[in-house]
Amino acid sequence: TKDIGRNGFHFHTSEMNEIVIRKSKLASSLRTGLENGEFVILYQPQIDLKTEKIIGVEALVRWNHPKLGTISPAEFIPLAEETGSIIPIGEYVLRKACQQSKAWQDAGLPPFRVAINISARQFTQTNLAETVKSALEESGLSPQYLELELTESIIQGSKSSIATMQELKKMGIHLSIDDFGTGYSSLSYLKLFPIDSLKIDQYFTRNIQVDSKDAALVDTIIRMGHNLNLNVIAEGVETAEQLDFLKSRLCDQAQGYYFNKPLPAEEISKIYCQKKSE
Ligand code: C2E
Ligand code: CA
Ligand code: CA
Ligand code: CA
Repeated sequence: TKDIGRNGFHFHTSEMNEIVIRKSKLASSLRTGLENGEFVILYQPQIDLKTEKIIGVEALVRWNHPKLGTISPAEFIPLAEETGSIIPIGEYVLRKACQQSKAWQDAGLPPFRVAINISARQFTQTNLAETVKSALEESGLSPQYLELELTESIIQGSKSSIATMQELKKMGIHLSIDDFGTGYSSLSYLKLFPIDSLKIDQYFTRNIQVDSKDAALVDTIIRMGHNLNLNVIAEGVETAEQLDFLKSRLCDQAQGYYFNKPLPAEEISKIYCQKKSE
């Protein structure tokens, strides 16, 4: 038993070491990665369920690491949060996505919003309204075509976060709550915050066909959103059955692999230039 114990411990340690080494490698190359243009942005369409037309795209960042290949944001965003690199990375995504969005409009695509994920640190430790204003001016994008996705954890009700939201709102920017219902905040913030949309997390969407409790929760979130005059969008829609359910419950919009995976900007141009002439 001593051996097994030691082996178990040994295996555990080396595995831990690998994780720690990878983490520190990634953490230390975040900034140079940004400088070297290793971050790319993919865009995932958001579809209006009444008209079936594109109403927006969500910007989702990827890291094409020269040695380690493509790294998911689920892995490097938390590291970037820890090290503070999320601030320049987030600003890069914001500026780049605004430019791209304006370029699509100039190329004659139907105008749709671009939604950007904002991290907690970006929201609380920088002058976000200032950065957003400059990104809009620089790109020439009209504020009505910009959406910021905020999570419940960011906004935990401090006075200054409400002030920031109000400032953004006054500029004409669309605000949404991402991963709605997965955080720990109370619902009272829905009353305090000047938001436009709720995003139902894929955690709920995934099982609406198999779990009647998830179905009930999704139904309830949609009704509550509508009662509060909010727009409701479901993410992670993968099947026609999930879509039918969401339509029957009058969900406003949907996003997910059923429609499109996150795509490079050129793919978006191709798809929606063709649609225009249909
Ligand atoms: P999120 O904001 O909840 O984004 C939704 C995630 O679900 C994305 O993962 C997207 O690719 C994935 N997804 C979309 N449709 C489907 C579907 O039908 N089925 C399934 N199973 N998944 C789907 P991704 O791109 O790996 O991003 C992961 C997370 O990383 C995002 O979660 C977001 O929290 C964060 N993230 C991504 N880009 C940025 C960024 O520019 N800034 C910040 N702060 N966070 C970002
Ligand atoms: Ca999001
Ligand atoms: Ca989400
Ligand atoms: Ca998330």
